[in-house]
Amino acid sequence: MSTKDYLEKDYYKVLGVSKTASQDEIKKSYRKLARKYHPDTNKGDSDAEERFKEVSEAYDVLSDDKRRKEYDAVRSMPGGFRGGQPGGGFGFDLGDLFGQQGGQSGTGERIGDLFGGLFNRGGGGGGGTRTTTGARRARRGADVETEVTLSFGRALDGVTVPIKLTSEAACPTCRGTGAKTGTVPRVCANCEGTGQETRNLGNFGFSEPCHICHGRGLVVDDPCPTCHGSGRAAGTRTIQARIPAGVADGQKIRLKGKGAPGENGGPSGDLYVNIKVLPHKVFGRSGDNLTLTVPVTFPEAALGAEVRVPTFQGQPVTLRLPEGTPNGRTFRVKGRGATRRDGTKGDLLVTADVQVPQKLDDATRQALEALRSAGDGDDLRRDLLQHAREE
Ligand SMILES: [Zn+2]
Ligand SMILES: [Zn+2]
Repeated sequence: MSTKDYLEKDYYKVLGVSKTASQDEIKKSYRKLARKYHPDTNKGDSDAEERFKEVSEAYDVLSDDKRRKEYDAVRSMPGGFRGGQPGGGFGFDLGDLFGQQGGQSGTGERIGDLFGGLFNRGGGGGGGTRTTTGARRARRGADVETEVTLSFGRALDGVTVPIKLTSEAACPTCRGTGAKTGTVPRVCANCEGTGQETRNLGNFGFSEPCHICHGRGLVVDDPCPTCHGSGRAAGTRTIQARIPAGVADGQKIRLKGKGAPGENGGPSGDLYVNIKVLPHKVFGRSGDNLTLTVPVTFPEAALGAEVRVPTFQGQPVTLRLPEGTPNGRTFRVKGRGATRRDGTKGDLLVTADVQVPQKLDDATRQALEALRSAGDGDDLRRDLLQHAREE
């Protein structure tokens, strides 16, 4: 028996038993099938003979605890037969695929939990929210991602916003079974409840969702009229999300435990909120600091002045420009910026924007001409012209 045989042959399926079947169940099933396909009772029937060989081979392996263990191990190798795609986005949980079937025995207990882990991580983009159903053991709820747009001021101050989340909950009519009241789903015969089937390409086996049950492991003969057999219903819930003060545009905040509820006693997932902050007409942000550009006249800049500047949501303050303030100089007003995590505040950074008069009345023109005469003899560009000749 080679590893390849192990990979390609589903001995449990051949014997029609579950992967957690006891030795008694295996023996019983083998005897029944061996009688049915025994060459003595099927003279000349080559199909029956082939089946008889398969059944015997399967029994040889599964009836021997040591070989059965090896077989199971080979079949669950990651990247091989059923381990999902290494490095890909699909990390199927082998524990879920194979560990859940004890006690199932055809009672249809296994609800569509195969995709429970599929979207657990990496929270899909686009502002949508998505949660998943869980497995039958305790399982952490899915992380959920959403987007919140805040005004400039609310982002600075912090705010509690209601966030509406849509989630896939169990259908209330059938309680998630997908079956009409009074009926139960049956285990899918094609995949024997694993939800997976394999496609072989040469030496490689690929696992993909079963095409009969679409990965659910169960088939519903009599669908629930509410959910049409899916067992799921879109539910919405609204949570109050506390957005801390001082969040910036593009920041992502994590609200622990505010994601999808866990299954069977597992903890809730987290909610990730992508923050969008709308720009303000007057103020800008630079980390913890607020920024403000304030126009000043040439005489104010040249002679010095006291100018009134607004603060965000506070009284205006008086800023003293020193004599000879150049265009673009920035002044710091302490403690008038964004609130930091520790409750302290950043600063307000005020940049002087020296204005050139666009329209001149007579008085202004005369004053400027007088200024020009006073400065005659100074050549601002002398150095420039001189240095421009250097290599
Ligand atoms: Zn199936
Ligand atoms: Zn239903």
